[in-house]
Amino acid sequence: MRDKGENEQDILEQLSAYRARDISYDRVLSAMCTHPHPIAVKAHEMFMEANLGDPGLFPGTHELEHEVVAMLGRMLGDPGVHGYITTGGTESNIQAIRAARNSGISDNPNIVVSESAHFSFDKIADLLRVDVRKAELDEEFKVDPASVEAQIDDNTVALVGIAGTTEFGQIDPIRELSDIAVDRGIFLHVDAAFGAFVIPFLDKTYDFDFRLPGVSSMTSDPHKMGLCTIPAGGLLFRDRSHLHELRTHTPYLTIDTQYSLSGTRSGAVAAAAYAVMQHMGMNGYRNTVEYCMKLTRRLVERVREFGVEPLIDPVMNVVVLDVGDTLKVREIMAQKGWYTSITRSPLALRLVIMPHLSEKRLEEFLDDLELVCREL
Ligand code: PLP
Repeated sequence: MRDKGENEQDILEQLSAYRARDISYDRVLSAMCTHPHPIAVKAHEMFMEANLGDPGLFPGTHELEHEVVAMLGRMLGDPGVHGYITTGGTESNIQAIRAARNSGISDNPNIVVSESAHFSFDKIADLLRVDVRKAELDEEFKVDPASVEAQIDDNTVALVGIAGTTEFGQIDPIRELSDIAVDRGIFLHVDAAFGAFVIPFLDKTYDFDFRLPGVSSMTSDPHKMGLCTIPAGGLLFRDRSHLHELRTHTPYLTIDTQYSLSGTRSGAVAAAAYAVMQHMGMNGYRNTVEYCMKLTRRLVERVREFGVEPLIDPVMNVVVLDVGDTLKVREIMAQKGWYTSITRSPLALRLVIMPHLSEKRLEEFLDDLELVCREL
């Protein structure tokens, strides 16, 4: 840092130069985040200094957070849920598993997740010192409930189902997992970081949330398809006792207990999530999901015309394509300015069709992809 500060104009110019190097979302088909809705940005700005780590100083923001948690709960089948606004899917997953582990069932705890689980579960293994067991997938990349059952033992403190897998946008059979959880008396966490703001708005109905009796907790991220500013995740528990497993005594704040992983934390995202959810309403999100699914169907229709098949019929706005030499195709598409992604197993081209993608850009992308696939 300099001894004498620089003037504002110079600093803003420097920032603009840095910002100009960032990638504009309109050619990005690899991200699960998107442009935040303008009302979320406005709300975020209004609450910049609000610290939910010390809610006694910010009772208004604290109440907003409660409202957002209740809204998420209503959307996901239980308005009476308990939780808080996290920094995203990773923190929500960590905290859900931490709560399950802290229940004290085992000194040598393990959890059973699907092979398609997000890499946050690898962080969980490291941080929480729980054995993360991976259950096999079926041919549609959903977790196989029989494989889950086979991995359970007396030290299993949680099962995890994914509603909207990161790589395939697939929905695990959460009803079956819920039945197993109820039968065996095991905590079930549903990671709907991406799916929470998609699945309720699809034409087809899926059982994946608190309406299933075995579901104990859920991850649901406003900062993905919820169009909120970053970093906004939702951690929800059915029972207050599970949230209580996370409590820490905070002697010198305006409150004496904290449940969150971070201490100081943003009230701005709680306000932003409140604003965008109130503004969009269920109909607004339904329109957004319909738009993304329309583009998704168009993508599949077009690639089939030039002989490329998706690995599964897309369930949500994630498409995985068998393009042959995936890495080569990805590299050439990158040279043409397109940001795409890959799946791990099998290796294939992964595309996320977010609201920032216009119909025109999609056609341009498909023209380029067709050229590349035909040439290779
Ligand atoms: N869970 C799932 C299913 C995800 O797709 C992601 C991110 O894409 C996460 C968790 C992690 O979310 P975050 O990056 O917000 O921590």
